[in-house]
Amino acid sequence: MTTTAEKTVTGALNPGPLQEVDPEVATAIRRELERQRSGLELIASENFVSRAVLEATGCVMTNKYAEGYPGRRWYGGCENVDAVELLAQNRALELFGGDHANAQPHSGSQANMAALQALTEPGMLVTEIDRSREHTVLGMNLSHGGHLTHGSAVNFSGRSYRVVPYGVRELDRTLDYDELRRLAQVEKPSVIIGGASAYPREIDFARMGEIASEVGAKLLVDMAHIAGLVATGVHPSPVPYADIVTTTTHKTLRGPRGGLIICREEHAAAVDKAVFPGFQGGPLMHAIAAKAVAFAEALTPEFREYTDRVVHNAQVLADRLAAHGYDVVGGGTDTHLILIDLRNTELTGKDAEALLGRAEITVNKNTVPFETRSPFVASGIRLGTAAVSTRSMGEDEMCLIADLMNEALISGGDDIIIADIADRVTTLCQAFPLYPELGVEG
Ligand SMILES: *Cc1c(COP(=O)(O)O)cnc(C)c1O
Repeated sequence: MTTTAEKTVTGALNPGPLQEVDPEVATAIRRELERQRSGLELIASENFVSRAVLEATGCVMTNKYAEGYPGRRWYGGCENVDAVELLAQNRALELFGGDHANAQPHSGSQANMAALQALTEPGMLVTEIDRSREHTVLGMNLSHGGHLTHGSAVNFSGRSYRVVPYGVRELDRTLDYDELRRLAQVEKPSVIIGGASAYPREIDFARMGEIASEVGAKLLVDMAHIAGLVATGVHPSPVPYADIVTTTTHKTLRGPRGGLIICREEHAAAVDKAVFPGFQGGPLMHAIAAKAVAFAEALTPEFREYTDRVVHNAQVLADRLAAHGYDVVGGGTDTHLILIDLRNTELTGKDAEALLGRAEITVNKNTVPFETRSPFVASGIRLGTAAVSTRSMGEDEMCLIADLMNEALISGGDDIIIADIADRVTTLCQAFPLYPELGVEG
């Protein structure tokens, strides 16, 4: 007699590990772990999640359909996913304040789609695009640090709304609130979008709130980059001033890839409807479980210390780069982010990204305010300290990183010099091991 366990059933799940079942994918994942371990990650939108967040991201909740919201689902068997989604919502509100949280957006972009939908008239996103005043949105200029979803012509936002961009002053390349007020008074937008992807200084959300209420506009703040700093009070919170706040969960907040919306009670029903069934189907319950874990981590005193270190590290890195003669946009940073304008050097952003990449230092080329090149070339590079700070690097390492970057940028691309810098980068990274508990297999 055979027991159930011994039966082999045709078409059953292969119980083997990934390495055995799919060596090609397993190899790519192992190499990615190795790449993350051995290089310096300075991309401002990236971070390294904890082992606990990683574990939740790869859990069996990926199997579960849960359209709807906790207690109001379209599917049975939702008691466990309800528990994690409620934890995610409640922890998000504990972290950020606000009346209502929606933890379902698959990404920051989808959170923004839902938020704009919730704040504007229905029918705007269908075929007949009404570009009347009522559908005007003020969003930060992409080349001044804004995001694609804040009104870029190639994005749904720019295609569906009449978007008027605002930006920074030429004088000191900081946000021009007087110009924002003037534009708001002239254009009478229905929504003002605050927040940025490449703006290093503190943003005055209270002032944006005042401007919005002066002209009867709603304020949508997208805090995707700075959410971790807002969570601990290192950057002032937009939540008291904004109708809706959107964010990603994977940048300074150090959670899994995904989005989150926090809003006032009056927008709660519209936000929930816009996310599901408006733009999404079944929520990614494994990602929501991982968001809950990350939010709990962000509530700890250790995370507060981490965000202090992130900002301090960015300031040290910016100062040292300025001392090497680099033009730090905005005159410095109040966040994790630094934008360097390379127009006082021989290099474009694209050149600099490639040179640093050869030296195992990962950054991205970025347009700068009053950009004169195409976005594919760009005149700047954007840096961030969220990931290196997660690896516990501090002041000394920031100075060393600035020096290594400078050596690479002035090397003229010489193979021997670059190889030597790459060696020193690897040595530095080995002193700050990443995921040592995962071993070599990942
Ligand atoms: C990163 C970012 C987003 C988009 O997030 P995705 O998850 O990549 O869609 C939206 N807004 C801002 C300001 C961002 O920086």
